[in-house]
Amino acid sequence: MSMPTDYLHQLQSTDPAIYSALRGEEARQRDGIELIPAENYTYPEVLALLGSVFTNKYSEGYPGNRYYGGQDFTDTVENIARERACALFRGEHANVQALSGSAMNQAAYFALLEPGDTILAMDLSHGGHLTHGAPVSHMGKLFRFIRYKTHGERGEIDYDELRQLAREYEPKLVLCGYSSDPRDLDYGRFKAIANEVGALTMADISHIGGLVAGNVMNNPLDAGFDLITTTTHKSLRGPRGGLIVCKKELAKQVDKSVFPGLQGGPHMNQVAATATTLLLAQRPQFQDYSRRVLDNAQRLAVRLKDAGAKLVTGGTENHSLVVDTVASFGLTGKQAEQVLDRVGITTNKQVIPDDPLPPMTASGIRIGSPAATTRGMLGSDMDAVAGWIVKALRWHESSQKLEEIQAEVRCFCRRFPVPGLMEQG
Ligand SMILES: *Cc1c(COP(=O)(O)O)cnc(C)c1O
Repeated sequence: MSMPTDYLHQLQSTDPAIYSALRGEEARQRDGIELIPAENYTYPEVLALLGSVFTNKYSEGYPGNRYYGGQDFTDTVENIARERACALFRGEHANVQALSGSAMNQAAYFALLEPGDTILAMDLSHGGHLTHGAPVSHMGKLFRFIRYKTHGERGEIDYDELRQLAREYEPKLVLCGYSSDPRDLDYGRFKAIANEVGALTMADISHIGGLVAGNVMNNPLDAGFDLITTTTHKSLRGPRGGLIVCKKELAKQVDKSVFPGLQGGPHMNQVAATATTLLLAQRPQFQDYSRRVLDNAQRLAVRLKDAGAKLVTGGTENHSLVVDTVASFGLTGKQAEQVLDRVGITTNKQVIPDDPLPPMTASGIRIGSPAATTRGMLGSDMDAVAGWIVKALRWHESSQKLEEIQAEVRCFCRRFPVPGLMEQG
């Protein structure tokens, strides 16, 4: 059988510019330490399915009810993906067609709400996502978002304040979930508050979907939530995409909202890759992986704190942490990100709660363990990584020191093959 990598030789002569960019990206992924919490290395099987002939097929509609013929195999694939999503997240209905996380959330809002309805959601600078009503997102114009924040040193949600806001604004939807909050959430309390004001409940577990699937973090559906959304490409390790899992009663409106409400044809290569990802996430090995992701994040947090770094919320209960780089190293998030890029450690600048700096500068960086854990890095490796981060940020003015660290990082990375990548390109 032809694998996608075989076709790359053809690409070399067809489109040398793109071919060489691809080789460059492969080397970048192999020679550096990936610490962006939203990223991961997907499975070789997923890469193969994404590059498969399923990409040729139009499948508007749902299994057994499509607008085009020739759906024998796409129906099989989508049915299996839906069943596996329900089993993995203990839900009653799943939609696997959302093209990505943002589309998935838009479809979920329109399934549950009318334009102008009120949503109670987490403030962006406290860890919420753009699609949770940031003024720059179209969603912020279409719905009325009321924002709750985190409080105190530990950065926890003040559930009494949340209840007060719910009673004052009577939202139609209580939304929780985040992109950069290192804490787990008490979904039972969200649900109780929503019940009090007759609101629906939605949790966007995009970042932690894999950790919920791996049973190392709370599952909102266990607490009676109406609907969850998760991307498939972050901690879940799958192709880029979005999943919606919900109660049976919402099945029709969710499906109609994704198609024809928001999208046309689903990407069946992506749906097939999602199906395989969900199978792999059911295995005990994935639960072990999820546990190691948490352990590695903990270890990084402890080591960075030992070295005097200031962490937003003081620590982590998930795969990610936020370092206040202004307070810790006198560098903005943007500067810290650039320094770390020079040594082959990839992170991203991140606003901290009520950040005085704009998002493109920011006062911190966000660090996460899923990708490094996928490459097989363990606790003692995290000690080394934390050491390089601190050294680089402290000695950012010394080109020589940065070059030394970069050489060490590159050598270290050779010990950890990237899934799906040949040893040396
Ligand atoms: C990543 C993320 C999304 C959006 O995903 P995209 O695939 O980038 O569109 C939505 N919600 C949360 C909480 C996320 O972290």
